[in-house]
Amino acid sequence: MADEPFLLTPGPLTTSMRVKRAMLRDWGSRDGDFIALNAEIRERLTALVDGGHAFTGDDAFTAVPLQGSGTFVVEAMLGTLVPRDGRLLVLVNGAYGERMVKIAGYHGRAVDTLKTAEDVPNDPAALDAKLGSDPSITHVAIVHCETTSGIVNPVAAVAEVVARHKRRLLIDSMSAFGALPLSARDIPFDAVVASSNKCLQGVPGMGFCIVRKSALAEAAGNAPSLVLDLFDQDRAMGGNGQWRFTPPTHVMAAFREAMREHEDEGGVAGRGARYAANCRILVEGMRALGFETLLPDELQAPIIVTFRMPADERFHFETFYDRLRGRGYVIYPGKLTVAPSFRIGCIGDLHEAEMTGALAAIREVLGEMNVSDGKAVAA
Ligand SMILES: *Cc1c(COP(=O)(O)O)cnc(C)c1O
Repeated sequence: MADEPFLLTPGPLTTSMRVKRAMLRDWGSRDGDFIALNAEIRERLTALVDGGHAFTGDDAFTAVPLQGSGTFVVEAMLGTLVPRDGRLLVLVNGAYGERMVKIAGYHGRAVDTLKTAEDVPNDPAALDAKLGSDPSITHVAIVHCETTSGIVNPVAAVAEVVARHKRRLLIDSMSAFGALPLSARDIPFDAVVASSNKCLQGVPGMGFCIVRKSALAEAAGNAPSLVLDLFDQDRAMGGNGQWRFTPPTHVMAAFREAMREHEDEGGVAGRGARYAANCRILVEGMRALGFETLLPDELQAPIIVTFRMPADERFHFETFYDRLRGRGYVIYPGKLTVAPSFRIGCIGDLHEAEMTGALAAIREVLGEMNVSDGKAVAA
């Protein structure tokens, strides 16, 4: 829409008109059409991790949707799948790893961490040593793309180590799911969570957990919360196809359209390729203006890019932000603890025109601020 800004953020994101239009009707929660819509979404989600027909019986996966933002389903996954006498090891290199530690604390579950700096990926060798020396760890949790920095973590290498030690892997793939591949055929895991409003380009209000049926079957009675009990949610939906509590009907309708749109774009490969192209345009354009990325290109996920704050004292972030907003582009503040920074996203219904448009706006605003070079303070 004409007066609507483009959201170059980690989400909620710019959605297509096709997705917005899907919300222009009301759905009864017990209506056959809505039950079919839910079934289609669950089927499509399971297929995205190759978790359906490649596996049989209890080795197969089920997709369990849940009301709320992404954190609700992260909390539901940890609460439902880590047993009361279990012990969780979280691989931490940013705010979303820290959040999982905090959740386990609220649940009163035993929790340990293996940390690396915000600009350093999780360390599979250190994990190997840790699991070798601590048999009490039952579950390992990883953040696929740590949105704090935009770093991509080595999920395949970590999964291999966890499987070799016969522990269970839980994945927060919130900001990567649908754009970076994650196949249960290559990468052994018990569960992965993501939400409607990131790389699948729906509207916010729903998250989902794609979980191995055998792991969920063992989890009856684990959850410390009624509304966040994925075992119960799955059982109810598997029974009459209905949600236990008022479903976010319009969010689900938009999400089904978003999943069809994702397929039309070529699925994970197609979506990932567009985001990678967006990311390349952004990084090259910003470097040409003197800006420095936090991460080297090989660690950068094509999701969101962290730039170091320029050293020029005429650069004032609030002014930069407001003037870009005035030109129709919303960027995002930094969340790093190591260095002052800001972030620009490359996900959502954004294409080459929006990325080059954002760069042109950035160039203009720098000119107005008399900043000739985005070069950062020495790290
Ligand atoms: C967005 C995100 C979440 C969930 O955040 P909400 O604000 O609750 O939607 C969790 N983990 C990661 C890695 C994310 O990027």
